Amino acid sequence: MKVAIIGGGYSGVILSILLKKQNNDIDVYIFEKENKLMKKIYATGNGRCNLGNFNDNLKFFNSIEAYRIYKNCDINKQIHILKELNIATRNIQGYVYPFSLSAKNYIENLEFWVKKLNIKVYLNHKLKSYNQNVLKKYNLIFENYLNIDDFDFLIFTSGGKSTPNLGSDGNLFNILKEHFYTISNLQPGLCPIKTLESTKELKNERIKCKACLYDNSSNLIYSEDGEVIFKEDGLSGICIFNIESIIKNKNIQSPKIILKVFDEENEKMIKNYYTKYKNIEVLHGFFDSRMFNYIIKYYKNNFYQFEFSYAESYSFSDSQVTIGGVSFLNINKDTLESKIEKNVYFAGEILDINGLCGGYNLMLCFSSSYIVCNNILKHL
Ligand SMILES: Cc1cc2nc3c(=O)[nH]c(=O)nc-3n(C[C@H](O)[C@H](O)[C@H](O)COP(=O)(O)OP(=O)(O)OC[C@H]3O[C@@H](n4cnc5c(N)ncnc54)[C@H](O)[C@@H]3O)c2cc1C
Repeated sequence: MKVAIIGGGYSGVILSILLKKQNNDIDVYIFEKENKLMKKIYATGNGRCNLGNFNDNLKFFNSIEAYRIYKNCDINKQIHILKELNIATRNIQGYVYPFSLSAKNYIENLEFWVKKLNIKVYLNHKLKSYNQNVLKKYNLIFENYLNIDDFDFLIFTSGGKSTPNLGSDGNLFNILKEHFYTISNLQPGLCPIKTLESTKELKNERIKCKACLYDNSSNLIYSEDGEVIFKEDGLSGICIFNIESIIKNKNIQSPKIILKVFDEENEKMIKNYYTKYKNIEVLHGFFDSRMFNYIIKYYKNNFYQFEFSYAESYSFSDSQVTIGGVSFLNINKDTLESKIEKNVYFAGEILDINGLCGGYNLMLCFSSSYIVCNNILKHL
């Protein structure tokens, strides 16, 4: 049996290892357009690779479909599978990392298995098109004019459009459209946002706060404690990345982001002071002069919290994940097999699945690959 995996990112590599570990007779090929496997993984978790999270509530995923996919191979099972590969992990307050806390080391471990299991890796191979021959096998045509034929299974793990410099530029969606796949609206997720209000004066300033997302009817949609980093034209930081993804996933109209800087005790203290002395000098005790001047300028009458209106998101180049992907209209949600073409499967970020920051996206790559692996093995 000959299996072609298109895309040598995390999903493709995990899938190849799972397949070969289960049945070493399968001929597994990975085709990767870059000159290295898993280029994106080096950048994950600030170089430490946040593999997963024990806090695995539905609210951290974009949809029930994504959550169900995750539940097929949850974090405990993923850790167990990694253990069988002699890859140790570490739990830091619920966040799961490779034991070495090194993405590079994790990649080296996976690459060791790719080699050991004789997975055939073709780097610098960008798929251009594919077709099915009379024997119902898949023929692949690459940009370097090389053709490789007769695959029994074709699996797309070619990611989304985020960080194209690390490989995933969305080129494969065009090929899939030619095969009549519906691609749901592709948007950058987990990225900074631009605000209607000026933030230029605060560029590079950081504040610890509760970041709250409200819709246009002032309903609180989400809140998270974290650090917000001011950019020339907006806001950044993990809590802002999460808010950005929620705005896109839930299609929130005219979103407002309110940064609550003070805890109850300090807010009360400031309010008492302000009521008594009618000036906001008291804020000098909380902020440096740059922040103080900004607050005086923009928040004279309401300086307990800072309100921003979402203007737009940063681009795919600045985003950690792609919202949207190959639609479940064309894919069986349980097996991840195509409804359009037999023996074609999808795993990872190419699908219309995503999660918030904290390991949820790599867990989705792993669990979707696990589902595809099990369903391919059923054909044996
Ligand atoms: C900076 C950054 C930090 C992140 N940190 C974390 C984190 O700590 N935890 C977490 O859970 N998630 C994190 N993510 C998200 C996570 O890395 C991705 O969701 C995940 O790596 C997606 O894996 P994938 O294999 O599905 O797709 P990708 O990693 O995008 O891999 C797809 C591969 O397919 C190849 N390809 C594309 N088109 C073709 C073609 N035509 N022919 C051949 N090959 C092709 C690409 O070159 C690429 O190598 C982070 C993302 C970024 C950008």
